[in-house]
Amino acid sequence: MISFNLRCKHDHEFEGWFKDSAAFEKQAEAGQLECPYCGTHDVTKGLSAPNISTSRTREKAQTEIAVKAQQMIQAMRKSVEDNCDNVGDRFAEEARKIHYGEAEARGIYGQATADEAKELVEEGVEFTPLPWTDDSKKN
Ligand SMILES: [Zn+2]
Repeated sequence: MISFNLRCKHDHEFEGWFKDSAAFEKQAEAGQLECPYCGTHDVTKGLSAPNISTSRTREKAQTEIAVKAQQMIQAMRKSVEDNCDNVGDRFAEEARKIHYGEAEARGIYGQATADEAKELVEEGVEFTPLPWTDDSKKN
């Protein structure tokens, strides 16, 4: 048995079961298909298959975008970790020192609490939130 999503000329959609694809064609040609909603015999196959393939294509594209984004984040992370000092939870303190010229100007990274980040913004200290958390750190 095989099922088709069928659609009548009034856009009623319903499922029909047939022995095989040829049986469907034969019944359709003979005008034996009937819409259970309005009784018309003007019934054609719906577009279920293309819809499924479209949604699969979309899922695949979304997966690829997610993978690319992940790769970009990994590359950015490596670059930051290779070129910047990890100051850990002293980030706000160090960023402030650099901002006021009390420490050597250099790239640093670390953690700041939401309150610390807010204070830095208010003081005009420039920093960028990084798109990863320390929890996911590999080592
Ligand atoms: Zn109908």
